[in-house]
Amino acid sequence: MTDWTRASALEMAEAMAAGTVTSVELVQAHLDRIAAVDGEGTPSNVHAFLHVDAEGALATAAEVDADRAAGKELPLLAGVPIAVKDIVVTKGMPTTAGSRILEGWMPPYDATLTTKLKAQRMPILGKTNMDEFAMGSSTEHSGYGPTHNPWDLDRIPGGSGGGSAASLAAFEAPLAIGSDTGGSIRQPAAVTGTVGAKPTYGGVSRYGAIALASSLDQLGPCGRTVADTAALHEVMGGHDPMDATSLDEPVPACLAAARDGRENGLKGVRIGVVKELGGEGYQAGVSQRFEESLEHLRAAGAEVVEVSCPSFKYALAAYYLILPSEASSNLAKFDSVRFGMRVEKDTIEKTMLATRAEGFGDEVKRRIILGTYALSAGYYDAYYGSAQKVRTLIQRDFAAAFETADVLVSPTAPTTPFKLGERLDDPLAMYLNDVATIPVNLAGVPAMSLPAGTAPEDGLPVGFQIIAPAHEDARMYRVAAALEKALEGEWGGPLTSLAPELEVVK
Ligand code: GLN
Repeated sequence: MTDWTRASALEMAEAMAAGTVTSVELVQAHLDRIAAVDGEGTPSNVHAFLHVDAEGALATAAEVDADRAAGKELPLLAGVPIAVKDIVVTKGMPTTAGSRILEGWMPPYDATLTTKLKAQRMPILGKTNMDEFAMGSSTEHSGYGPTHNPWDLDRIPGGSGGGSAASLAAFEAPLAIGSDTGGSIRQPAAVTGTVGAKPTYGGVSRYGAIALASSLDQLGPCGRTVADTAALHEVMGGHDPMDATSLDEPVPACLAAARDGRENGLKGVRIGVVKELGGEGYQAGVSQRFEESLEHLRAAGAEVVEVSCPSFKYALAAYYLILPSEASSNLAKFDSVRFGMRVEKDTIEKTMLATRAEGFGDEVKRRIILGTYALSAGYYDAYYGSAQKVRTLIQRDFAAAFETADVLVSPTAPTTPFKLGERLDDPLAMYLNDVATIPVNLAGVPAMSLPAGTAPEDGLPVGFQIIAPAHEDARMYRVAAALEKALEGEWGGPLTSLAPELEVVK
């Protein structure tokens, strides 16, 4: 019998069209897998999901199957199940953003993205775990307990979207949604051996995505293969009048670009290695796999050059002023009155104070305090104003680099996944996981991560990052698909097929 949880999303779509499997069978296979490896009390306890909607997913699947049987035309990914990061609001399905302050909140509306997934007729398996309000790189800041990396259950799955990435690596879903403010799609993809893309800023509507830092946030697709991720990217994209920052331009042809890269290689493509994003501070096995990937790209016909982006060294510092500033303002709405938790006291001020004290975790409080300080009258120019200037310098570095290269590349994360608990008491060590991903968000350009193999020293996944100029999202899929083809030739399939088997509930 075929284990459908191992198939790619596009293989599932093809098999449904050919009549070899139904959507109900696919959804049931994934629900069974979730029951076997995910929940508390299961031996593996991956804990990728905060909420599973078996009934809703099966109902959507049954409708798709009925329409297919009736000969109705269906969208490409109709009937393919998907996991959604808990930062995206879903009508009638709990949405917490990983925070206790939103425990029990039922959104009264759907995000534009949720509406698009429903229009595509994709059964939503449930909501995935994440660092609270997307602040973190390990999912350990979730108010509901951490997610475990399917490659090694004692290690972090990355963050903030560790739940989405782990659900893919554990074969609990073929596709997932993530959000990326500083790396939360790409870094979890890197450390779980999966694929994840951050589209051009404005490429995917943020209406109904709980805001962290509005000038940096972007929703994006996650999958196990480049083509699956490209297909989902196209489903998510497009102009939305409900989001003032939404781009009014056609959705990039990501899937066609991926197919082109796979079939025709990369002749004439100039690939720029960013000097500042590598070397010292990067694990030996990460650098080794990165260099080997460059060889594969050369073999596929690309020209590899070195570029320098001198202002990138200030990116992390600028980000940790801009992000907390915007977050402190965005999170002011969690006031005990409008949403979720309420710790009742004798005055409204005390109620708000007590609710926020109990509802928010340490990392969220740390950033609210930092942001409020950075924005205060006497310090505004010194901190927030300077950070915005650095942002401009970083944008100029990108513009100059893209004069000599069509795409830029780097390792996605400096190390393979670390042990749970290892960096929890050291916020700066945690922040360093995003050195290579953060410049991208500050410039609003698209970027993705795909697996480059496992590090020889620990056998854990390494990610390869591809960055393209704004609006050129399709270009990164072309390069990624050519690299994936070469690497899959070595692995005999997606990297996740080499992950150790998880212990399951019998
Ligand atoms: N890890 C980064 C942070 O903690 C990025 C988060 C994100 O992309 N949402 O801010």
